[in-house]
Amino acid sequence: MNKKIVIIIFAISLVLTSIYFLFLKKDEFNYQIDTIVEDNKKYVISITVPKTNIRKLDNEIKGFIDDRIKSFKDNNYQTSYLLERNELNIDFDFNFFNDRYISIGIKETVFDGKKKENKYLVQTYLYDLDKNKFINILDLFDNHDDLFLDVKNKIFNEFGITVYNFDDLDLVISDNNLIVYFIRDNLYSVSISLKDLNFKLPITSNEEVDSTILTEDVINVIDPSKPVVAITFDDGPSQYTEEIIKTLKDNDCNATFFVLGNKVEAYQDVIKQSIKDGNEIGNHSYNHKWLSRLSTDEVKEQIDKTQNILKETVGYTPTLLRPTYESVNQRIRKNTDLDIVLWTIDTKDWKIKSSDRIVEKIVKSVSDGDIILMHDIFKRSSDALKKLIPILKEQGYQFVTISELEEVKLLRTKF
Ligand code: ZN
Repeated sequence: MNKKIVIIIFAISLVLTSIYFLFLKKDEFNYQIDTIVEDNKKYVISITVPKTNIRKLDNEIKGFIDDRIKSFKDNNYQTSYLLERNELNIDFDFNFFNDRYISIGIKETVFDGKKKENKYLVQTYLYDLDKNKFINILDLFDNHDDLFLDVKNKIFNEFGITVYNFDDLDLVISDNNLIVYFIRDNLYSVSISLKDLNFKLPITSNEEVDSTILTEDVINVIDPSKPVVAITFDDGPSQYTEEIIKTLKDNDCNATFFVLGNKVEAYQDVIKQSIKDGNEIGNHSYNHKWLSRLSTDEVKEQIDKTQNILKETVGYTPTLLRPTYESVNQRIRKNTDLDIVLWTIDTKDWKIKSSDRIVEKIVKSVSDGDIILMHDIFKRSSDALKKLIPILKEQGYQFVTISELEEVKLLRTKF
């Protein structure tokens, strides 16, 4: 090919790429939430982080998370008591505002199982989609001295703690508030309305969330004389949940989804559809902390935050709780009105990589009234469901939610 033509083609593609990035705005920008849960003999890990379609931002987050996992594993000791395992928990704040900025806060808690101590770390990102680069959050405020004074006073009034400069603090924008994190013996945060600060940008009103769900006429006729099975999915929603609820709907089946509170906002449409279809939503904590070793206040917070966000965003209040890491104690039981639901068949779909083997495991041991544990964060689990439904239907099984399963059991005692 002629050198000139090559250069021209190159120039054209360069222009087209720039235009693409220039116009990658609200409509094209999207994100999902990645979840990693590991529960083995050496440690437990739970990570929930946003994954966007902005490569630069994503690489940064991924690099940070990889580092944190490596650091945790390098410093981990082997304990002979499962209850003393160390725990890595990573959670996030996420906000997209003024059609242009993405503010992310990533919060790490490492629980030392032997010393019963927490260590904290916060990392923040502010990305400008227009300029395609990271910016300093302080650039969005006029008069930094005033801003610091406001923040300092707020922290002193709330906690009696004195902070000395911005280096001491991590700042995130979230729902028209400035969230300020700082670490002492604990991870503290205060929230200040942007209206009360010298925020440079116009403050956009929060979008009205329509939380009403129009339930379609889902008439689930369950025959109590025939076998029933309740499939449950933990740790979602995720990018695979939509396909899972479609499979259920196409086959007139229902299931129960134990969701994490910090993923509800991002997946509210999927959750709404799921409820419309007749599925049940349960509570699986806010950010997958090991519930049975939290204090009473922390347990309540984990449960209530998830109940509240479900109520606010999708207008639904769960009645079921599935504790994290298979672990439940008196403190959890005492501090919740929710029914605690465990399972009778663990598919180990987080470990078994083939959907056929997941199906095999269920089919081999299933019997009437079983509660099956799966996770809607894997493609293989979605594939397994597609294969499982026809096999069990052939055997006469009906796929019901946990509440329906309880109803069936009750009906059976009456007849
Ligand atoms: Zn879980």
